[in-house]
Amino acid sequence: MKAEIITIGDEILSGQTTDTNSAYLGEKLSQLGIEITFKTSVGDDIKNISEAIHNALNRADLVITTGGLGPTNDDLTKKAVVKVFKRNLIFHEEILKKIEGNFRKRGIPMPKINQNQALIPQGSKALDNQWGTAPGILIEERRKLFFALPGVPLEMRTITESGVLNILQKKTKTLFFQKRLKTTGIPESYIYEKIENLLKAKTGVKIAFLPSFLGVDIKLTSESEKRLIEVEQKIKKILENNFYGEGDITLEEVVGKLLLEKKKTISVAESCTGGLIGKRFTNISGSSQWFERGVITYSNQSKTELLGVPEEFLEKHGAVSEQVAILMAEGVKRISRTDYGLSSTGIAGPTGETPEKPVGLAYIGFAHENDSFAEKHIFGEDRNTNRERTAQAALNLVRLFLEK
Ligand code: ATP
Ligand code: MG
Repeated sequence: MKAEIITIGDEILSGQTTDTNSAYLGEKLSQLGIEITFKTSVGDDIKNISEAIHNALNRADLVITTGGLGPTNDDLTKKAVVKVFKRNLIFHEEILKKIEGNFRKRGIPMPKINQNQALIPQGSKALDNQWGTAPGILIEERRKLFFALPGVPLEMRTITESGVLNILQKKTKTLFFQKRLKTTGIPESYIYEKIENLLKAKTGVKIAFLPSFLGVDIKLTSESEKRLIEVEQKIKKILENNFYGEGDITLEEVVGKLLLEKKKTISVAESCTGGLIGKRFTNISGSSQWFERGVITYSNQSKTELLGVPEEFLEKHGAVSEQVAILMAEGVKRISRTDYGLSSTGIAGPTGETPEKPVGLAYIGFAHENDSFAEKHIFGEDRNTNRERTAQAALNLVRLFLEK
């Protein structure tokens, strides 16, 4: 089954609203094994909306629009649908009752204009909208499926989950098995080289890379569960400890689980990451069991006062150095009496570069029961990315240590 998604609204074209609806729908449809061939965004113009729907219906088996179902003059989707499908709008008493009920629940009178929303194209099916007034619309014609959904993300999602996906699941007969393998610390091109044979072999498993600056997710899709598991196991073996989890799991969840299992505690002293590592740890509910404290020691003075890093050291090696990273980790471990101390120090950029120390240079320090060490990284040019990547690498360092 081939699908197209059309998002409707001037505000999407002008960039005032970021189109998250099509990303959401893309993911949900992919999970059903439906291939998305086009995504179109179109402004509030009947002619253009009609044209977009018409073209999409010519190319695809399934078309979903979002937006423009409201009661006001700038909401034109239904008018365009009527034009494309050559059908009339029919008034439905039961839809009006539902809309009136929604207003009653909120304790406000229903504006007359909302009566429009009880009009849907002839022969179409209304999909219940729990959070808003406009129902979704389903039209089936000549083996094609057409859905019009509201633009408000919560409404669109709720109708998708309570109606659209069930309908689609029944239509897509083949069942697809999917798995997402999460990796970090290895670039996409390295993964490609390592699993090139698998990518080229006829395994019956589709392998897709989903890279971000924090790592690469590998998505496997197959009609055969057995084949999927075979390929999955091969990839895991090849990638060894670059693989850290499956599905939606985050690196901080993995680290938190390991610390909990091993009954260990950790504290962190952050310079260039400015609290990002502590933020990641405290993303996890219950992290107080293993995360003791985080301090942001940005200035040299704070590194000396709070962590006991000797001034001479800072002068001799510079704040961004292996030695200082180690002393920061040892310092925070000492003051918080945790099993482990973690630290970050780096040149996030764009300023602060020296001939020996480029923007993107970062050290992650780690102190444990018997020893301490630091890891050097050279990331890129962008300040925010460098900080996020340093935090990610710090979490990964702890994971690798605990998994040993
Ligand atoms: P309403 O009844 O609220 O008018 P509607 O179906 O007419 O609903 P729109 O008017 O097109 O929907 O959009 C309502 C709001 O939903 C927009 O202001 C915007 O904030 C959000 N929205 C619309 N389309 C998208 C999209 N593709 N991605 C994310 N948000 C969207
Ligand atoms: Mg609207």
